[in-house]
Parts: sequence; structure tokens; C-alpha cells
Amino acid sequence: MFEKVLIANRGEIALRIHRACHEMGIKTVAVHSTADAQAMHVRLADETVCIGPPPARASYLNVVAILSAATITGADAIHPGLGFLAENADFAAAVEETGFTFIGPSPEHIRLMGDKVRAKAEATRLGIPVVPGSADAVRNIAEAERAARAIGYPVLLKASAGGGGRGMKLAHDAAALAQLLPLAQAEAKAGFGDDSVYLERYLDRPRHIEVQVLGDGQGGIIHLGERDCSLQRSHQKLLEEAPSPAFDLPGLEPGPRERLLALAVGALQELGYKSAGTMEFLYQDDAFYFIEMNTRLQVEHPVSEMISGVDIVQEQLRVAAGLPLRHRQSDIAPRGHAIECRINAESPEDFRPSPGRVTEYHAPGGPGVRVDSALYQGYEVPPYYDSLVAKLIVHGATREECVMRLRRALAEYVIGGIETTIPLHQRIVDEPEFRRGEYDIHWLERFLKPAP
Ligand code: ADP
Repeated sequence: MFEKVLIANRGEIALRIHRACHEMGIKTVAVHSTADAQAMHVRLADETVCIGPPPARASYLNVVAILSAATITGADAIHPGLGFLAENADFAAAVEETGFTFIGPSPEHIRLMGDKVRAKAEATRLGIPVVPGSADAVRNIAEAERAARAIGYPVLLKASAGGGGRGMKLAHDAAALAQLLPLAQAEAKAGFGDDSVYLERYLDRPRHIEVQVLGDGQGGIIHLGERDCSLQRSHQKLLEEAPSPAFDLPGLEPGPRERLLALAVGALQELGYKSAGTMEFLYQDDAFYFIEMNTRLQVEHPVSEMISGVDIVQEQLRVAAGLPLRHRQSDIAPRGHAIECRINAESPEDFRPSPGRVTEYHAPGGPGVRVDSALYQGYEVPPYYDSLVAKLIVHGATREECVMRLRRALAEYVIGGIETTIPLHQRIVDEPEFRRGEYDIHWLERFLKPAP
């Protein structure tokens, strides 16, 4: 096992990885920007290295500085966390070439799944249904119109190299498509350094359901059940739960869950996948459509940990060190229900970022409550990074118990000095449709729309 791991990330996820390392007796190295000198992931690490000024491209995306920090501290391995360099195949390759272990999948798998057009083609080859769409990137308006006619309107324009729910555009007809294509291409180029855009049929009321998998690259592949991430705003997840209530709605035949989990595991077995990964699907009218695979740890991984009892980060560390998975599928018996609320430093009304000093801080606790956060009283939330500052995760024997526990935990959470999305979560958990588990990916947008 590794003796020292460098964590190439910040905030709650850096702390999450630090926790897994320390529980395994592994020392940690925190790298940080000058804006994060007082951050909790830095304060708790065994060693720290400042790698640059606040902008991410000069620090958390600075490959040379990160590899130098690993060299001078004598780290054995690098965990990229999520976001930043986590899905950068060139970074993963550079880590390995410099003589460190990359804690994640192979660069080839990262590259394959990072190109969403190639990923869909690979999924099809592996026998997984995908959303009907253009087989390739569309280069001009004529190509786009031809593809859209074959798919049927409305269509969604997506960046091949996209991620984080950004840059998607909806076209209801040919005129809108002609207008939106150049915009989508320009945005894709600016956001992801690649102007390739492809088309997909727009589903009007799907749920977003994803499967958490773990592989050891030695033939061992297991799933930890599914997560429902349909509560989204601007294609960004806000609340996630496991298992998905979609499979427990009254009147539904049993079977879709088992079908989905078998599809995901079968495909990754054939790929020989190593480390943690997530296969994302849309689910509508009892049909699943693969949309993408994330070759990394996900923000919402704790809900799967809560129902399965598996520490996903510890498994990532183990398989990166060449060990087999600690669990077989037959050992995993999902228990109860878990929900995660993403708490962002944002106005709960208009979602404007709300950086600043945390003047008061009290985290909820008690049975079945987990808080993944690097916040503390006196901490200054910097304006330079993602607005996610805490994740409140609760577990209950049933979904109903879980929701009641979530209500009381949200009411206990005190974060003073900055605005957060806690009041919005409080409104959501009181909604009858949410209570019944009846929501799709467009539900939250409808809920947030002011009454006419
Ligand atoms: P990203 O990589 O940017 O996160 P995804 O392909 O994972 O993009 O899609 C993000 C979200 O956008 C999905 O969870 C879903 O809410 C919505 N979405 C994606 N594809 C479709 C589609 N074909 N029809 C309707 N909504 C979609």
C-alpha cells in the first residue's frame, strides 16, 4: 500500500480523500493555491505545498507544479479528486510517466469516455442502448439538419468534449438549429478547447439514473446499486438519492433495476475497467438510454456508500496499489435509503454566488447523518472556485425515514455570513411530489418558475 498520497484537489473532496487515506494509515500531501492557504484540507494534511496563485489554471490545473510537489514531498501516488484534472487523460499519463501511481482508471479509458461521441459508439458496441442521435460530430448546418431530420425534433446540441451540464442547447426546429449550431460550436471551443458538437433526441420527461461501479482491472467488477440524480437545475445536480424511487413507484413491474445494473456491469467487465466509475442513463417509458460515463469519483458518491457500506475512495486506493477489490457482488446487500443535498454558497433565489466569511457554523449530527464539508467558522469562501461548500447526506431504513431525517438535519444546519442553498432544499423536501418520489429532470425548473 502507498505510504504517501498527494491530493490534487481542494475543498470537501480533498478532505474526503484525506479521510480515506488516514483511515488506511496513509500520509497526505495537500497542494493549494494562495487563496486556499487557510483551507481545512490544507490544515489537516501531513504536508502542504503551495502550487500557485488563485486562478485554477495557474494552480489546481498546473500539471508541472503538481508533479513537482509530488517529487519534492516523495509521494507515491496522486489522487485527482473530481473536476480539475480528474478526467484529463494526458495528466493521468504524465503522472504515470513521472513514476507516480495515478489513482483512477487507465488513461485509455479516460480518453475513450471523455469523447462523448466515441463513448456512445463504444456503449452501442457493448450492447447498451443510447439516446438516438448523430453518429458523429456535425460539422455544418447541412449535416446538422440531415441528422436532426433523421432523429426527429426537438434535438439537443451537445459538446463532444463537454461536461458539468454546460453548453447544451435545445432546438425545436430547423431554423433554431441553424441559429444555435454556430453558438454551440463557439461555446464548446471556449469551454472545452474543442468545437465538436453532436445531436441527440431531446427526452421530455426522463429521470437521470446512474450506476456506481468499481473495478480492479483484474477481472473484478461490482456495482453499488443505482442513484437517482433527476433533481437538477440547468443540467446541474442539486439533490441525489439511492436507490432510485423510480423503481418503487406503484404499479411498476419488477425488473428494470436489475436490467440496468446487469447492463452496466457487463459492459465494464468487457472493458476491463479499473477504479471507480459511473455510467449515466436517462430513463423514460421503461427504457434506458446511456448518455455518458464518468471515469472518476462523483460528487454524489456518498449516497452509494451509505446504502452499501463500501468506502469507494478506499477501494480506489486499494486497486490503484494493485490489490483486488475487497468485496464481491454477493457481499453487497444495499440497506435502506440515502439522500444527499448539495449545499452551494449561492443565493437560494437567483443562484448568484455568495463567497465571503463564514461567521457562524454548526453542522447537523445524530443518527444517520453525514456531513462532507471543509467549512469552519471564520473560513473565507473564496470567489474563484466551484460554489459547492458542503454535502449533507442522510441515511434511513426507509425513504420516508430518510426524508424526515433530512428535514430535521437541514433545520439544524447553521451557516452564517454567506447565503446557501439550504432554504431551497427545505422547500423541496416538503413538496408532495418529491415526497412521493415523482419527479423527472425537468421537475425542479418547473418548481422554481414563479407562479404566473
Ligand atoms: P454533462 O456531461 O455536461 O453532465 P450529460 O450528457 O451527462 O452532460 O447530461 C447532463 C444532463 O442533461 C442530464 O442529466 C439530463 O438532465 C440532461 N440531458 C442530457 N441529455 C439529454 C437528452 N437527450 N434529453 C433530455 N435531457 C438530457
